[in-house]
Amino acid sequence: MRISKIGNMQKQTLSKNQKIIFDLIDKSAEPLKAYSILFNVQKKGIKAPLQVYRALDKLVEMGKIHKIESRNAFIACHNSSCQVAKATAFSICELCEKVTEISNLGLSKYLAKFKDKNGMKYSKYNLEFFGLCKKCMPK
Ligand SMILES: [Zn+2]
Ligand SMILES: [Zn+2]
Repeated sequence: MRISKIGNMQKQTLSKNQKIIFDLIDKSAEPLKAYSILFNVQKKGIKAPLQVYRALDKLVEMGKIHKIESRNAFIACHNSSCQVAKATAFSICELCEKVTEISNLGLSKYLAKFKDKNGMKYSKYNLEFFGLCKKCMPK
């Protein structure tokens, strides 16, 4: 397995397809479902789903976007301290579906050192926390 630490400071050149797809996700106010990405990029000339999935995989690997597994959706990374693309945590509002990337040093430090009772250490995680956002919380 290849462990890549890619800082967001690093300049990365995106291919044409990657750039189109990244811009689309970046401009979206909410996480974009895979099928709506497919639908949107078709208008821009990327017809083959495989091309889209390949570009998505690559962007995830680069840490430019993250995948919200439970929603099968993608979100652009706006977390400058997010250096490990394979270690992400999100909060998801169960009411309005608002997804926020959790940037909490305490949490990431804890998880970086976390071992289970059998001594297994984890090199990647993709956590999703569900609850109610501030806006949806009953007053
Ligand atoms: Zn991130
Ligand atoms: Zn909400």
